[in-house]
Amino acid sequence: MDFAAIIVAAGRGTRAGGAKQWRDLGGRAVARWSLEALLNAGARHVAVVVTPGDENAAAAAFAGLTRWSTVVGGAERFDSVRAGLAAISEAGAETVLIHDAARPFVSAAVIEALLAALAEAEGAIPALPAVDTLKRRHGSGVLITADRDGLMRAQTPQAFRYDALMAAIDAWPDGETPTDDAQVLERAGKTVATTSGDPMLFKLTYPEDFAMAQALAGRQTRIGQGFDVHAFGPGDHLWLCGLRIDHDRTLVGHSDADAGLHALTDALLGAVGEGDIGDHFPPTDPQWRGADSGMFLQHAAALVAARGGRIINVDVTLICEAPKIKPHRAAMRARIAELLAITAEQVSVKATTTETLGFIGRGEGIAAQAAVAVEV
Ligand code: MG
Repeated sequence: MDFAAIIVAAGRGTRAGGAKQWRDLGGRAVARWSLEALLNAGARHVAVVVTPGDENAAAAAFAGLTRWSTVVGGAERFDSVRAGLAAISEAGAETVLIHDAARPFVSAAVIEALLAALAEAEGAIPALPAVDTLKRRHGSGVLITADRDGLMRAQTPQAFRYDALMAAIDAWPDGETPTDDAQVLERAGKTVATTSGDPMLFKLTYPEDFAMAQALAGRQTRIGQGFDVHAFGPGDHLWLCGLRIDHDRTLVGHSDADAGLHALTDALLGAVGEGDIGDHFPPTDPQWRGADSGMFLQHAAALVAARGGRIINVDVTLICEAPKIKPHRAAMRARIAELLAITAEQVSVKATTTETLGFIGRGEGIAAQAAVAVEV
């Protein structure tokens, strides 16, 4: 069914600790969850009602989406809804869904059921039975059990035939504030149907609600990859994957030239979009001369942790003719695991040659590549 929608995102969210509609929830702003759900369900246009000054926050939150616009809301939610209705009047839809941004988990099934219910009614709302025993406060804290029989908890989105809602709003008495949009229709004597509510439509009201939403939103798995090369030079040992290995040459570089850890550091930085190792430890900076590359790796791991990230696994491939890696592989895995505070089972170190081809085949240097998976 053809419809337009309004998302009321004008709350200041004082109880949830800040303007919750723009906060990140599983990699998307809270309000974007609802906007995507409504657009995916076929909304012709969605007007997002914001507080003055929040237009830029909306533009950033909804980057890449189309068929939406912002409109500045009013002092009361009812004023914001009226501003939204005016904004979508041009869209010419016969049906409008009105939704609160603070309920991010809108399913296609909920929207479909609401639209279907409008065949028999001027309005439709999702509602759930009140399952907890309800008590009413009397006097100084005396609680009396209330009869919850037939009591329902109304959720959003709420669906309306546009003309019926506009007529009901015109008839709404001045100076009164409806607690939801369906109440306006009820007062005008119109029929409001009820569809099955969805526990996932819970409202982000308190900080604890946000923690639950974060858990439900799921976390992303991000990958990163890195590559590094260092040349051989005169020496009697080299550093690879955090191990000192006796060898008839060394690796040349500003730091300890540990190509394995450098590739792995870049992979971790890549997974969280934090640039590359040169951004964090410029080779022109004398303080990194001869530096232990384990420190670079731990810096990258700290950046992952600062984003609430968790390393799932890392995989390093060393590409060289010599030294032989296999005798050192277990110790390299253990050392990387120690540096990253993960288990050796999460660390893979592999080795290959280039079949004597190219600079590696000629024994001029060592290359390393690394891949990581990070849950954030
Ligand atoms: Mg390097």
